[in-house]
Amino acid sequence: MLIVGIDASAVEMDLMAGRLACSMCGPGLRPWGYGVDREVRLRVGIERRRLRRSICRACGATHVLVPEDMLLRRRDAVEVVGVALTAKAGGKGHRRIAADLGRPPSTVRGWLRRFAVMAGALREHFTRWAYALDPVHDRLSLGGSGLFDAVEAVGVFAIVAVRRFGPRPAWSLACVVTGGGLLCNTSSLWAQPV
Ligand SMILES: [Zn+2]
Repeated sequence: MLIVGIDASAVEMDLMAGRLACSMCGPGLRPWGYGVDREVRLRVGIERRRLRRSICRACGATHVLVPEDMLLRRRDAVEVVGVALTAKAGGKGHRRIAADLGRPPSTVRGWLRRFAVMAGALREHFTRWAYALDPVHDRLSLGGSGLFDAVEAVGVFAIVAVRRFGPRPAWSLACVVTGGGLLCNTSSLWAQPV
């Protein structure tokens, strides 16, 4: 799996030109058909997407190209989950958030619980990234709940990343550096800053 931008035609051009990199070997991925269709539920509406598959010429590994607004094993886009997490950090309950988003309360509660379980590790991860991108950025002040502090760390990281790379949705950036695994119970997919 490889997280890519949401502009499918730009990604296709990069793939054709061999600019996308295998995580093991480096640039040179080639097109390798398509995966199954996936449904992505956005803030408004639902999209069906055919995810591109690629193959590495060097090692033969295949990688599905996953747009950066999609989360692993979740049908809802990261932006929707991000709205829920931000609302929870702001003090709203899961039923109210679910009603605002038009999602089942059990779904929203599942996101919040999963994120809360990993909150400490997520906060550290995003803080490390923010420091790697800008060692002198304004620090955040801790003191809320674990979930609050982790959401805050995502926000600080996003500000630093946007300053460095230009405008991009905060939660998509969060998705990129967690390898789509923002709501997974493991940090094994997370990309580490170099
Ligand atoms: Zn490879």
